[in-house]
Amino acid sequence: MKIKILHLYPDLLNLYGDRGNIECMRRRLLWRGIDAEVITHTCDDGALDISDVDIVFLGGGSDREQKIVCSRLLEHKKELQDYVEDGGVLVAVCGGYQLLGRYYKLEDETIEGLSILDIYTEQGKGRLIGNIVLEADFLDQKIVGFENHGGRTYIGSHKPLGRVLSGYGNEEKSGAEGVVYKNVIATYLHGPLLPKNPALCDHILTAALRRKYADFKGLTPLDDELENKANNYIVKRFVK
Ligand code: GLN
Repeated sequence: MKIKILHLYPDLLNLYGDRGNIECMRRRLLWRGIDAEVITHTCDDGALDISDVDIVFLGGGSDREQKIVCSRLLEHKKELQDYVEDGGVLVAVCGGYQLLGRYYKLEDETIEGLSILDIYTEQGKGRLIGNIVLEADFLDQKIVGFENHGGRTYIGSHKPLGRVLSGYGNEEKSGAEGVVYKNVIATYLHGPLLPKNPALCDHILTAALRRKYADFKGLTPLDDELENKANNYIVKRFVK
């Protein structure tokens, strides 16, 4: 078995080392004897072929970087929309999450998004920064992470990734964080999201393997004692 992971625009969208999420997916596949190939597509590359890609990763970036990347991303709108509608796995973090929506409205301009999700983002007063803990209805393990965003995202009738137990989330008020749509996981949780949350990483890998291999029976368990302890420590520290 083999999984091909595409890292989109690592040259611009890689805030707080979002790249570590790619390494985490790769290692957790290899440890189970499943091959993993990582390819990148940067702003200097032309055509984008995602016909044999199993997981697409879009990281976070500053408003400036999002403005640069947006026109490039829109050139591939149709391929990416079709990929998602066909059940393709897409993980988008922070700035990448915002760009999946209809638009991201800043004070002086509006960045057009891919409209893969029927959501929109508006810059608010001040930034929402800090540790965050979520509860997702499809995972036993709580999701822990760090958020830092000026944008507030309104997800309409979309299903959130999780309910905020500590932190801000999409727009501070609703108690919702991120979006789950088909095989899209979109979230404000930055940096080492997947190393901190092995159950979420395996959920994503399972979705990609199921889509590719009809006879896939499920991932073999790994020894996650340390990862689980670290996750649990953060939950205990922030959720009273
Ligand atoms: N520039 C966006 C914001 O501030 C996203 C930031 C990020 O990816 N951390 O809302």
